[in-house]
Amino acid sequence: MGHKPAERYSFYIDIRFFYSRVAYICISTICLLDTVLTSSTVLSELETCAFRNRSPEETATYMSPLLEKHLPLHANSSRSSALQDERRKDHYSHFILRLAFSATEDLRRRFSRLETMLFRLRYKDDDARERQDFVNSLDFAWEMVGEKEKLELGDDLRAATGVGRKGEEEGWFKVEWERVPELVESRRVLLKRGTAYVPLREQMSLVVTEFTRRLDSALELTARALPRLDEDDRLSPILTHLSRSFTAPDVAYDSSSTLAGDFHPNASNIDALSQHFPLCMSHLHTTLRQNSHLKHYGRLQYTLFLKGLGLSLEDCILFWRRSFKLITDEKFAKEYRYNIRHAYGDVGGDANRRGRGYTPYSCQKLLTEALPGAGQTHGCPYRTFTPDNLVALLQQTGVSDREVLKGVREDVGKQRYHVACNRVFESTHKREIKRVKDEGLWNASELDVIAHPNTYFKRSFLLKHLDDKPAEEMKRENE
Ligand code: SF4
Repeated sequence: MGHKPAERYSFYIDIRFFYSRVAYICISTICLLDTVLTSSTVLSELETCAFRNRSPEETATYMSPLLEKHLPLHANSSRSSALQDERRKDHYSHFILRLAFSATEDLRRRFSRLETMLFRLRYKDDDARERQDFVNSLDFAWEMVGEKEKLELGDDLRAATGVGRKGEEEGWFKVEWERVPELVESRRVLLKRGTAYVPLREQMSLVVTEFTRRLDSALELTARALPRLDEDDRLSPILTHLSRSFTAPDVAYDSSSTLAGDFHPNASNIDALSQHFPLCMSHLHTTLRQNSHLKHYGRLQYTLFLKGLGLSLEDCILFWRRSFKLITDEKFAKEYRYNIRHAYGDVGGDANRRGRGYTPYSCQKLLTEALPGAGQTHGCPYRTFTPDNLVALLQQTGVSDREVLKGVREDVGKQRYHVACNRVFESTHKREIKRVKDEGLWNASELDVIAHPNTYFKRSFLLKHLDDKPAEEMKRENE
């Protein structure tokens, strides 16, 4: 990064296309962070749309106000005085995101997929004439089929490409056939002496394919340059933060995740409540019941989760004491009690007590920490288990829907662990989610993507008790 005269951007959508153009940025760290965070928010929202299987039209409707708010880009015809500023912001933020998301194969693939979705949205949204000017400005060696040639090839063109059948405007361009192998293979073009006659309607998919190709190779190049950036102690932490928040949105623990009112978790009802736990916590709970023991990090992860449920310190100590059946009171007091009190902020330094100990871990934290070693059970099973073992574990918890299990395999194959977890949640609460939607009982934000184990619990509990009073339920479970 460094100084260079401000660039001018000719087109609304070309900024992201020319990845070879390095951004020369002179910007404060705070502005930079703000710029890239808004950009990564846009990408996360797009991923949510894909996860929710929104159609292209629904995605466009959902994203339109978000793009206008976070990353506006207007066509030249809008005559906005902010055109150059908004295009510059888009260029800078893309460039930094590319640095952040090029480190691993998985990040590169996801980033490329989402940027391609964004490009497609913007391409469709552009002013038609400017879009054509933009396409013409690309060195694609496309030649429009003239009127004379259209007359000569008329019937063949229409028969081979299907153009004109539905009152579609007739138009084709010519290109060497090697440049459009998919269209040739799927017989969507007319082939003549090595030239493919391509209907205009296919133009977008060619531009988008080219976009992805250029972006992928730019990401590869960026990845190779990354080690040199490690020395920059201003940029490195920002890049690390960004790539982590892309793994799963970072959601801080919110004390409203605790169920209020009459709900009182206690040392005796954790078994009953565990049916609402996400896999990371139900796995710890089951292991604890099987072995009457958990290793340090598993204990800490589970203690904080229980604390987030609203379990009091006294009940938490009692819960662990009863669970560790095979050891004496003395050993428990000596080796385990202090750590539980520490997690609750009951002991330790001033800062720990003032801060009331540690906060429950988010999915992002669990998905980015070091993998568990032999005999350890902490972390997120969607990440730490092999796909086969994960499916077996899910089946043990009652998830048997083949489509869901197939989707989970695909998600974890793409390292979209929290997406797999949300998929399972939506499947196991399908009926209740439909009901709260149909009856307008919950608003959309209450059904947002889950990114915290305590949110998973709270949502599951509330959905499964839509008609019950939690207090009565708790009473029944305690009897
Ligand atoms: Fe737990 Fe989050 Fe993993 Fe789900 S995605 S199992 S809530 S860590």
